[in-house]
Amino acid sequence: MTNDNTHKKIPVTLIPGDGIGPEIVDVVERVFDAMGNPFAWDKHQAGLNALEKGGDLLPQTTLDSIRRNGLALKGPLTTPVGGGFRSVNVRLRETFQLYANVRPARTIVPGGRYEKIDLVMVRENLEGLYVGHEHYVPIGDDAHAVAMATGINTRAGSRRIAKFAFDYAVRNNRKKVTIVHKANVLKALTGLFLETAKQVGLNYADQIEFNDRIVDACAMQLVLNPWQFDVLVSTNLFGDILSDQIAGLVGGLGMAPGANIGEGASIFEAVHGSAPDIAGQGLANPTALLLAAALMAEHKGLHKIARDLRDAIDATVATVDGRTADIGGKVSTSKYGDLLIERM
Ligand code: NAD
Repeated sequence: MTNDNTHKKIPVTLIPGDGIGPEIVDVVERVFDAMGNPFAWDKHQAGLNALEKGGDLLPQTTLDSIRRNGLALKGPLTTPVGGGFRSVNVRLRETFQLYANVRPARTIVPGGRYEKIDLVMVRENLEGLYVGHEHYVPIGDDAHAVAMATGINTRAGSRRIAKFAFDYAVRNNRKKVTIVHKANVLKALTGLFLETAKQVGLNYADQIEFNDRIVDACAMQLVLNPWQFDVLVSTNLFGDILSDQIAGLVGGLGMAPGANIGEGASIFEAVHGSAPDIAGQGLANPTALLLAAALMAEHKGLHKIARDLRDAIDATVATVDGRTADIGGKVSTSKYGDLLIERM
């Protein structure tokens, strides 16, 4: 009899990345093996490892693999300072039109500053002030006397991200979407976003409640009373800032996963970078990348795997004996992986 399982596995481009990347990817591979891995890893390099081997931070073979599979799990990548290198993350975003950045934040480690946080930031990832249309205007002998930046929001882009946020809310049994903007000042740029997102929201009125908040008030409310929020949707710059704030509510970078959803592919990753200060020392917390893999499983409809993985993580970090150093424990990266596997 042939083993049908191997034929059913879902191909995923797996990028170990650099810095702590290979250590935390190793834990993901071992944990998924223990769960009867539903994915077939198609391993490719990017970042410093790829640069050393072939001269490009983002090799064509890696891009081809992501295009073929439509799905990738990415370890963190170092962007070398200087040398004119463009960020690999920005190149991936543009190449695969990764328009939605989804960052869930949930209290996992008990005893922190905030208990029972469970919210999701949906950030528009391709438009706004991040389009990078910037220039200087010289005055007299000062070539940089004035700096200008142009933000671009389109109705189509605003509609696409708002629709994504409301669909996500419905799919994940969420109750409310908050549209975050600065339409009182940036009346055209974020006014268009607010107006379009509200129109989209009306189409979901019988399923999901929605409201809107000005970004500065929202930032304050996230500190004072984060429990009032559920799903938040915002433009590129505000979403970038608020999603790090939200990660801070639940124990920081080692616990924060992210999904980048696009037309051409979806790429899942930890929010943190390559952490060169702790690389190779067994200190890295692999939870963020594991939670990113759980998001990927959910994205493919594998809800049980995602739930089992989250349950194992919750149970393991519930006591200090199951925690890595960044969240107050002493467990090494690979030992943490062992503890998770014991629960599978
Ligand atoms: P970083 O996220 O790598 O590290 C910030 C701090 O958090 C460090 O002290 C680090 O030790 C700690 N930290 C991060 N992840 C951790 C984990 N999983 N477990 C325990 N501690 C962890 O940010 P940085 O130092 O500003 O950036 C380093 C490199 O990563 C830069 O080249 C940057 O461009 C790149 N970067 C990549 C991504 C990505 O690939 N998505 C994201 C952010 C930064």
